[in-house]
Amino acid sequence: MEREPSGPIARLMHELGKLPGIGPKTAERLTHHLLAASRPQVYALADALRAIKDSIRPCRQCCQLTEHELCDICADPRRDASLICVVEQQRDLAALERAGTYRGLYHVLHGRLAPLDNMGPEQLTIDRLVERVRNGGVQEVIMATNPTLEGDGTALYLSSLLAPLGVRLTRLARGLPSGSVLEFANSQMLVDALEGRRSF
Ligand SMILES: [Zn+2]
Repeated sequence: MEREPSGPIARLMHELGKLPGIGPKTAERLTHHLLAASRPQVYALADALRAIKDSIRPCRQCCQLTEHELCDICADPRRDASLICVVEQQRDLAALERAGTYRGLYHVLHGRLAPLDNMGPEQLTIDRLVERVRNGGVQEVIMATNPTLEGDGTALYLSSLLAPLGVRLTRLARGLPSGSVLEFANSQMLVDALEGRRSF
């Protein structure tokens, strides 16, 4: 097992180096930048890091991470509550919001079914989704999982749970290249995929 580095400077470099896209060189550069920065500047960063864990929680309705009990989207009366778009990750939701045409609500699964990675239904927010649909008022559930083997498998599994509840089930059109990841799709592709959605 890798030994934890000792001393605050080595520790900071070690922690920064775990972040995506940050190699040892960048971790070292950032550490030296922070060493030279003012105390208020560094404390502001530390506080912001703490706050994302201490004051952010899943929205009680759609499960996206938010500061409030109900996220801004769920709390917005102008959004169409009869429509739920199911996404794997919060960043997929962000991509769809950037595209700017969707006016319904979301449901964030926080992953996809991946038996090889031990991601089963109980690791996702599937129960909450079924409960939402069962509570009524939902007319259509749009599966916006990624067009990958695991994303498709997840959508299929969800549709088998939701079909008996009498809700319309649709899937994003294949305007998205197979295997592409939603968060990297451009806005027009996402708009086309939403508009061209088809029933299961
Ligand atoms: Zn919400």
